Amino acid sequence: MLIIQKAGVEMYAKSLKCTSCHKEYPLSPLYECQECGGILNVTFDYNGMIAEELKKEKKVSNKADLLPVKSECLVNIGQGNTPLVEAEKLAQRIAIKKLLLKYEFCNPTGSFKDRPVGVGISKAVEFGYKKVVVASSGNGAAAVAAFAAKAGLEALIFVPESTPPEKTKQAAFYGAKVIKVEGPYSNSFKMAKEISNSTGVFNLTTTFINPYTVEGDKIVAYELFEQMNGAVPDVIYVPIGAGPLLSGIFKGYEELKSFGVIDKLPRMVGVQAEGCSPIAKAYLAGKQEVESEDNPSTIAGGICDGLTGYAKDGTYVLETIKRSNGFAISCDDDSIREAQSWLATDEGAFVEPSSAAAVAAIVKSLHEKSIDKDAKVVALLTGHGLKDMGNVKLSIDIPTAPNDLGKLLEIIG
Ligand SMILES: [Zn+2]
Repeated sequence: MLIIQKAGVEMYAKSLKCTSCHKEYPLSPLYECQECGGILNVTFDYNGMIAEELKKEKKVSNKADLLPVKSECLVNIGQGNTPLVEAEKLAQRIAIKKLLLKYEFCNPTGSFKDRPVGVGISKAVEFGYKKVVVASSGNGAAAVAAFAAKAGLEALIFVPESTPPEKTKQAAFYGAKVIKVEGPYSNSFKMAKEISNSTGVFNLTTTFINPYTVEGDKIVAYELFEQMNGAVPDVIYVPIGAGPLLSGIFKGYEELKSFGVIDKLPRMVGVQAEGCSPIAKAYLAGKQEVESEDNPSTIAGGICDGLTGYAKDGTYVLETIKRSNGFAISCDDDSIREAQSWLATDEGAFVEPSSAAAVAAIVKSLHEKSIDKDAKVVALLTGHGLKDMGNVKLSIDIPTAPNDLGKLLEIIG
C-alpha cells in the first residue's frame, strides 16, 4: 500500500482497483486491469479529519487533499471553484421551480476538462514523465496543452479533423503539437493509445483510460456541496461522451455519503445528442451493455464519442447512472440549438452546443415526466461558446452604421 503524505497530514490515495474483478494495484501509471482489462478506479483511505471538517464547516478547505497527487507535484492554472448560478428566467421559461447552472466553462481554458487534466498532468509530473499524449474532441486538447505548458512538459495531441478550429488553434497556441486525425473521435483515441503503448509517454485521454483524471471531476461534487450549503440536488444533468465527468461527480457524492455528511445521493442524468447516443440507446432499450456507434454525427462535438473500441466505458457509466436511480437521455440538434440560444438570451451564459444539451434534456425530461417540476435541478455547463463559433447561428445580420444620423436612428429603432 502506498500512502501519500500531505503537509504533515496523512492523506490517502491507497490503490488502483479494478471495477470489474476488484484486483488491486499500487498507484502506478496503469491504464487498465492486467487481469481482465477492466477500468481502474483510485481507492482512498481517508482519515477522520475530512469528515469532521465537512460536518463543521460544510466544506473541505484544501480540496487537493481529496486528490491522489503529492502536494508538491500539483499543477495549478486556476482550475476549479466555478460559479453556481441560479437561472431564474430560464427556469420560468421551461416551467421548472429551481434550476442551478454550474459554470464549468469558467475554467481557465474554457471547459471542465481543466479538472481531470489538472490531476493527470500533476500525476505525469509525479511519475517523472517529460511527455504526454491525449486524444480529444478539442476541450481536453486545450486543457492538456495549457497544463503541459505550465508544467514544462511536451504535449502531443490527436484531434478529429472535424474539431472546431477555435479548439485546435487554442491548443496549438499553448505550444502543443496538434495532429488532426481523419474520421470519428474513436480514431484519435486509438492513435493516442498506440503512441502511448509504443513510446511510453503518459496517456491523458480523459475517457476512463487514465484512472487519475476522473478524480479531478470528483471535486465538482464537493464544490456543489459547499455552494448549496450541504444540500444535495435531486437531479444532476451531465452532458456525456464516454462519461467520466458523470462518474466522477457521483463518486464525489458517494464519498460525501461515506463521510456521513449527506444522507441521500443525487440522481445522475447522462445527456447525449441523438446523433451520438450509445449510452442513451442502451438505457432506453433496457440493455446492460453499451454498444459503440461507428459513425456519430451531431453539432455537439464535445459529446460526439461513439465509443468504438471502448464501449465498456459506456457500460460502466450506464451502471453508475442506474446505481444513482438516474437515467440517460438524448436530444436532437435543433433542441440543443434552441437551448443554447435561451442560455444566452435569458441568463447571459454563452456555451457550446454540448453544454446546451443539458438544458434541452431537462425540457425533454419535464415533457416525458421523468423528473418533477419541483425537483431541485443542477445542470453542468461544460464548455464555452467561443470554442465553437461555427455552430452559432444568428437570426439577424449585423448592420454597419450609416454616416447619416437619421438613417442610423431608423436602424436602431
Ligand atoms: Zn480486473
